[in-house]
Amino acid sequence: MTKYIFFTGGVVSSVGKGVTAAALGRLLKARGLSVGVQKLDPYINVDPGTMSPYQHGEVFVTEDGAETDLDLGHYERFIDINLNQVSNVTTGRVYAEVIGRERRGDYLGGTIQVIPHITDEIKRTIHLVAKTSQADVILIEVGGTVGDIESLPFMEALRQMRSDLGPENTLYVHVTFLPYIGASRELKTKPTQHSVRELRGIGIHPDVIIARADHDIPQEHINKIALFCDVPARAVIPAKTSDILYSIPLSLRETGLDDFVIERLGLNTVAKPDLLEWQAMIEEMRRPKPILKIGIVGKYVELQDAYMSVKEALYHAGTANHRQVEIVWIQSGDLEKGKSWELLEDVDGIIVPGGFGERGIEGKIMAARWAREKKIPYLGLCLGMQVMCIEFTRYVLGNDDVNSTEFHSQTEHPVISLMADQRDLADMGGTMRLGAYPCQLVPGTKAAKAYNKELVHERHRHRWEFNNNYREILAERGMVFSGLSPDGRLVEIAEIAGHPFMLGSQFHPEFKSRPNRPHPLFKAFVAAAVAHQETGSGEDTAVTPKTPGENGRSKVTSS
Ligand code: GLN
Repeated sequence: MTKYIFFTGGVVSSVGKGVTAAALGRLLKARGLSVGVQKLDPYINVDPGTMSPYQHGEVFVTEDGAETDLDLGHYERFIDINLNQVSNVTTGRVYAEVIGRERRGDYLGGTIQVIPHITDEIKRTIHLVAKTSQADVILIEVGGTVGDIESLPFMEALRQMRSDLGPENTLYVHVTFLPYIGASRELKTKPTQHSVRELRGIGIHPDVIIARADHDIPQEHINKIALFCDVPARAVIPAKTSDILYSIPLSLRETGLDDFVIERLGLNTVAKPDLLEWQAMIEEMRRPKPILKIGIVGKYVELQDAYMSVKEALYHAGTANHRQVEIVWIQSGDLEKGKSWELLEDVDGIIVPGGFGERGIEGKIMAARWAREKKIPYLGLCLGMQVMCIEFTRYVLGNDDVNSTEFHSQTEHPVISLMADQRDLADMGGTMRLGAYPCQLVPGTKAAKAYNKELVHERHRHRWEFNNNYREILAERGMVFSGLSPDGRLVEIAEIAGHPFMLGSQFHPEFKSRPNRPHPLFKAFVAAAVAHQETGSGEDTAVTPKTPGENGRSKVTSS
């Protein structure tokens, strides 16, 4: 019998409900259980793919091409599993499905209602996770906090799950927050009491309360929450904000949360979780290491959640290279205005991450040019690869009118152009090249050395691609096409010869990085940045000829 653990949030959002659930997932896996995951998001969008990163943060892409909430990234990284299309379900998706059935006449003239039709559809998707994953335990997280109008159908479906399956197969975990009042120097439990009352009002009685706080939580607070919320004291779990994200499974283990959950659900497991490797990893992360500054040049840098997986992949690769990566966030639009260059000058490696739309593009091209001329390690991720190709082509042709047709539809040299199967699409949502595709590596290249493999599978999310009309001329001038689709048609990885490390991938390697298994490209990039830090190599390289503009800082125009 599959066991279900439901996570709801109380008091405020953004207290790390997803991370907490993911950390419990890691603990259960360490006890020999298999774990499945689903995030239920109450917003009306069918998926987060069409939302601005400012609204939503990163869109995490799964192997099978689902555009999902960034919490799914935490689940993949903590539990080390690959999630899929059913792992993230929104109100929009539930309604789209039900309305689709209604239009087909499947309801035979019936009136369609929230209960039972919407709640039944929600429950169907929950059961689908159990069916597709065949896992022992399914973790289901509901986005937002209790009391949100739009989450009510989800809450009702969760409530019904207990009646359907029995208390021995279902567990409700409520993640709340204890605010700290500076004047009286104390944590407050009252908002938690209120939110539990609200939850009980909709028929859900929590079995576990996880109390998040930025300060130590005294035992008397635990007892108080237990008393007022009708939960045994051992099921009130103190969860103080942690300095190292990945240490949360270890701190939850200390509270005995996994023991309680296993007992309560009657799960058959080994007596103790096997966390030796995880502990060693945390020790390594904690060990003081020299700082390595890496610049991320993007346009959403004010909201770093937009680059969640890039950030994490960098930290993973940093640990593997015995460095503490310090990310320097650089707004690409600033570079265009002649600002923030001192930040760029100070880093030992540059990443241009993914992105959409024209704003800030020229700043990213300037950063790529800076990296190429100054021989600073550069890693381009999707758009970052396209930017690297635009910059190199401008240099090779000595012509500024080189661009992607995404930013300049009439450009003289569309070195990045729309994929054939994208040209006639009218819909924006879910229509990109999405999910994992094979990539054949060319022996002897930096990419092949980094992976030490011939064939890899990496996740994509883009509409534009490298234009093969430019392959020959760029190859002659030192661009190496080191990763191709197996039929040779699509450029998946490009690098620049004679540069310590300048590589861009049309896919997003960041999605597959794990704390204990850093992504090969990130690892190789950080290794090159360490070499740059140690030797300062390439620092005073003369500006290459044929480059538009006066020096590395001049504005490059696109038309
Ligand atoms: N905007 C570019 C494209 O659609 C890059 C997308 C990305 O960086 N994810 O091709």
